[in-house]
Amino acid sequence: MATIELEHIRKEYGTDIAIEDLNLDIEDGEFITLVGPSGCGKSTTIETIAGLTKPTSGTVSIGERDVTKLPPKDRGIAMVFQNIALFPHKDVYDNISFGLQLRKFDEAEIDKRVEKAADTVQLNGMLDRMPSEMSGGQRQRVAIARAIVRQPDAFLMDEPLANLDAELRVHMRTQLQRIHDELDTTIVYVTHDQAQAMTMSDRIAVIDDGDLQQFAPPLECYNEPANLFVAGFIGSPAMNFIEGHLTAQGFESDAGYLDVEFDPSTVDAAVGQDVVLGARPEHVLPSDTATGDVTAQIDTYTDVTEPMGKEIFVYLVTDQGATVDMEDPGASGQLLMSVGPAADVGEDEPLSVVFDKSNLHLFDADSEVALAHGLSEPATVDGSEDTPASADD
Ligand code: ADP
Ligand code: MG
Repeated sequence: MATIELEHIRKEYGTDIAIEDLNLDIEDGEFITLVGPSGCGKSTTIETIAGLTKPTSGTVSIGERDVTKLPPKDRGIAMVFQNIALFPHKDVYDNISFGLQLRKFDEAEIDKRVEKAADTVQLNGMLDRMPSEMSGGQRQRVAIARAIVRQPDAFLMDEPLANLDAELRVHMRTQLQRIHDELDTTIVYVTHDQAQAMTMSDRIAVIDDGDLQQFAPPLECYNEPANLFVAGFIGSPAMNFIEGHLTAQGFESDAGYLDVEFDPSTVDAAVGQDVVLGARPEHVLPSDTATGDVTAQIDTYTDVTEPMGKEIFVYLVTDQGATVDMEDPGASGQLLMSVGPAADVGEDEPLSVVFDKSNLHLFDADSEVALAHGLSEPATVDGSEDTPASADD
């Protein structure tokens, strides 16, 4: 078990900056996930922790020991990759124990550790199988068992489920959580898939373009995204964004179809300033069934509906006859709504909707930073109701 600390990590490849200035404090026993789009610097970060990549500057500490200059083998970590490299001509037992045999562990100890690891990843009874006789998920579990027998202080996993089919990936998600519970060891996990990040981790580090955007528990990133990037990246389907500006009465959309009343002095922005309103699809409600603190009605027309089984996605347009641009469904004047499976919603018909005010988000259009989560009164970001609208920066 170990804490992992990254301080001011910077990584340049020639003139490209892969990581700008990354600081991460990972607690002992924590399961954290680095998540972000392809190319954002996740692999560079985890390889820096592992010692496979040398940072241009900054410090890596594992268990409060500065390991920045140590080779991977002396860092007390084990790594699992997307591409499972098993020895095709060795059986599962030999694949799992290979590292221990190399290091001349005695046979009884190897036996004990392999048995226990096979138990943890539920491969008992398969130790004499060859990799070719196993499914992708089983092979990935062999790779994890091989990491477990080394009894590392921390596991580093880079997209370990990316090559598995969707069903297996969901199954392995729960397996990995169980393995984490059992081993009680620090795990740093990398994925570009926000669903994996949301479901498994204690905290997720959302990275964009080499910059840490938010490092918080999954539901905090979902309910209180720090900025527009996190708001758009976490959650599927994505949050609706509506461009507008702040008025003395609250929010007014630039396209003119939406006003949201709240006291603008409760957010740290001046009247007239450009802002972006965020509404998740599940917080767009047909107005005839909506209750609670909701916005004024918005007159829309339904475009396409997508029945998903447990919910229906409804694409809405604010101009009759307009169609949703499927490449960019969040563009101004288009909304995605998610309703229950029993909702009676047809295509190409008028529908009046409202937003659940307590779940609306407001962002500064320039800095993209969150100004408020929840626009019922009082609006909250810092909870200070009486703060006059003033720019701190
Ligand atoms: P991710 O794992 O999030 O997809 P990476 O950490 O692999 O992203 O890459 C981050 C950035 O660094 C990308 O722009 C990538 O092209 C660049 N990069 C990664 N490895 C190298 C390398 N060995 N040489 C040059 N550029 C690299
Ligand atoms: Mg990668």
